[in-house]
Amino acid sequence: MNLILLGAPGAGKGTQAAIICERLNIPTISTGNIIRAALKSGTEMGLKAKSYMDQGKLVPDEVVIGIIKERLAEDDCQNGFVLDGFPRTIPQAEALDKMVKIDKVIDLEVSDEAIIARMSGRRVCEKCGATYHLLYKKPKAEGVCDICGGTLIQRKDDHPDTVKARLEVYHKETEPLIAHYKKQGVVKRVDGQEEVADTTRLTLAALEA
Ligand code: AMP
Repeated sequence: MNLILLGAPGAGKGTQAAIICERLNIPTISTGNIIRAALKSGTEMGLKAKSYMDQGKLVPDEVVIGIIKERLAEDDCQNGFVLDGFPRTIPQAEALDKMVKIDKVIDLEVSDEAIIARMSGRRVCEKCGATYHLLYKKPKAEGVCDICGGTLIQRKDDHPDTVKARLEVYHKETEPLIAHYKKQGVVKRVDGQEEVADTTRLTLAALEA
């Protein structure tokens, strides 16, 4: 199954993507994670993307389309995949339409107010990228990743001012994708719940429907 998780930054796409990919045994592809990895290893693409990311802006379409084209050509994507954070603009969706057929798009809906509250508590492992939350998904030891022992940090783009900028970008650039995929008849709306497990139940039901 070729899936897209659509929703504002902080709506919980990454968390749901990790659960779905384990259930369906397909990879998650997160352009945000790919860009952060490139930045960490100091590649030209990573350095170019940094200034956009730090300001809550989108990285240029041609850069992310190139990333996705290469990633979808890999062997592990041939039985399906979950896209998290791509596409984010109409040109990206149109480019993706030319590469693969999308079976379902989960539109994960969460209010801006809830997102701002959630994102201030989000922490990420600087080593392996695993995500945590100070209220909803605490690590076993404070500030330490359960998986690899790395240090947990707050991403620069999760700071409140940047979050507001990212939400503006989401409403302007990404929300129109819901209508784009509705035309293809593949959109399932899921209302994000307070508890991760409740959102997961609704998401899995939407995938089976
Ligand atoms: P994310 O982890 O998905 O929230 O992505 C973090 C940041 O990476 C975004 O705020 C953008 O600057 C950049 N980014 C990730 N995916 C995309 C995309 N599909 N198009 C443009 N920029 C992206």
